[in-house]
Amino acid sequence: MGRSEKQKAEDAIRIDVVRQLVRAGFLNDYIARLLGIKVSCLRVFLYRHKVPSNPGLGGKRNHARYKGGRIVRKDGYVYLSGMQHHPRHYKGEVLEHRVVMETKLGRFLTAEEVVHHIDYNKQNNDINNLMLFKSQKAHFFYEKNICVHPNNPRN
Ligand SMILES: [Zn+2]
Repeated sequence: MGRSEKQKAEDAIRIDVVRQLVRAGFLNDYIARLLGIKVSCLRVFLYRHKVPSNPGLGGKRNHARYKGGRIVRKDGYVYLSGMQHHPRHYKGEVLEHRVVMETKLGRFLTAEEVVHHIDYNKQNNDINNLMLFKSQKAHFFYEKNICVHPNNPRN
């Protein structure tokens, strides 16, 4: 018997990153979406690691809190607030696409690493729309010489 999909998904999750998201006040629904797993799967994972989770999007109050965690700033990027525990937060805020990548990798990104939006939509932070580069230099090289996406302003 192979390992279940659920188990494989759990292997990709680093508990400290999840713990941080929970502590920052994010709801199960949102964290599960970031991780690309089912809410029920996350709940089991949290229970096993004895992390007291925040409730889901059931009530109106929770929904309001959920919205408050995401802010679209003037630069067009989505920021997550309440992230004071993040090693590279600025005034408690961290770029959502970087947190999505960190959650996927199970580690924090270095200051040098750059996360690229494949469709050039800064607000589409689905993990499948994100690409990680080791440096800004590598990122620029990709955009200038390799990327053929129609939304690339260089094309
Ligand atoms: Zn880019």
